[in-house]
Amino acid sequence: MAREIADFTGLVISRQSYRESDLLVKMLTDQFGKLTFLLNRARKPGFRFAAGILPFTLGIYVGDIRRPGLSFISAVKEARQYQNISQDIMLNAYASYILALIDLAFPEGELLGPWFDKAQQSLTLIDGGQDPQVVTNISEIQLLHAFGVEPHWRDCVICHRTDLPFDFSERYGGVLCQQHWHLDDHRYHLSARSIYWLRLFSAIKLDQVNQIDLKAATKLEMQVAIDRMYDNMVGVTPKAKRFLDQMKKDPGFGPQE
Ligand SMILES: [Zn+2]
Repeated sequence: MAREIADFTGLVISRQSYRESDLLVKMLTDQFGKLTFLLNRARKPGFRFAAGILPFTLGIYVGDIRRPGLSFISAVKEARQYQNISQDIMLNAYASYILALIDLAFPEGELLGPWFDKAQQSLTLIDGGQDPQVVTNISEIQLLHAFGVEPHWRDCVICHRTDLPFDFSERYGGVLCQQHWHLDDHRYHLSARSIYWLRLFSAIKLDQVNQIDLKAATKLEMQVAIDRMYDNMVGVTPKAKRFLDQMKKDPGFGPQE
C-alpha cells in the first residue's frame, strides 16, 4: 500500500454515514484523483473539521493518503462551500448530477485529467447564476469522452463537409451532413439550432461560458437528445439523474431520503 502525507486541493462530492458516528467523504483531488476519506467521529457534535467536509466544499487539506484503501484528513487549511448550490434544492440537484457523472466516469485513484478543474468551473458557473441546464449539458457532452464515447462533431463523419445542415447519428458516431442522412433512418432528427449548440458545447471551454440563453424548446430537445446518447451509448444513469428529472417535472418534489 502506498502511503504519503500531502497537501492537496479537494472538492467534496459525496458523504456517507459509516459505523456508529463516522463518515466516509468522497473527494475529487487535484493530485490523487478521486479518494475516499474516513473521518472518525465526524457525526458527533463539535467535530473539528465539520465545516471543511460539507457537501459542495472546495478546500485545501492535509491528508494521510493511502492507496488503495481509505485515506485520512489531518488538517483543513482553507475551505469554502458553494453557497447558492448548497441552499437551492434545484441547483443542488444539477450540481449533484454533474458530480455523480464524474464519480461514475473515474475509478478511485485514477487521475482526472481536466475534470478536477472542470468540476470546479461547472459548480462556479451554476453557483454564479448561469443556466444550470446549459452547464450540465456542456458537462454531459464533454464527459462522453471519459466514458469512452467520442462522437465526431466537427464535420460530416462521411465526407467532412461543413456547409450543409447536420444531424446526429449514433450508428456513425457523429454528425452526418444532409447528403448522407439517408444512411441512417435512426438519426436523431434534431433542429439546426440544437445541432449548433451541441457542436458548440462539445468544444467550448467552461471558463468561456457567459450567459448562454437558450429557448425553452431548444433546451428540451437537447436534453432529450443527450439523454438518448447516455441511455444508448453510455448505459449508466446515476441516481442523481432520476432525482434531477423528478425535480424538473415537479420542483416541489423535495429532497429524497
Ligand atoms: Zn456528408
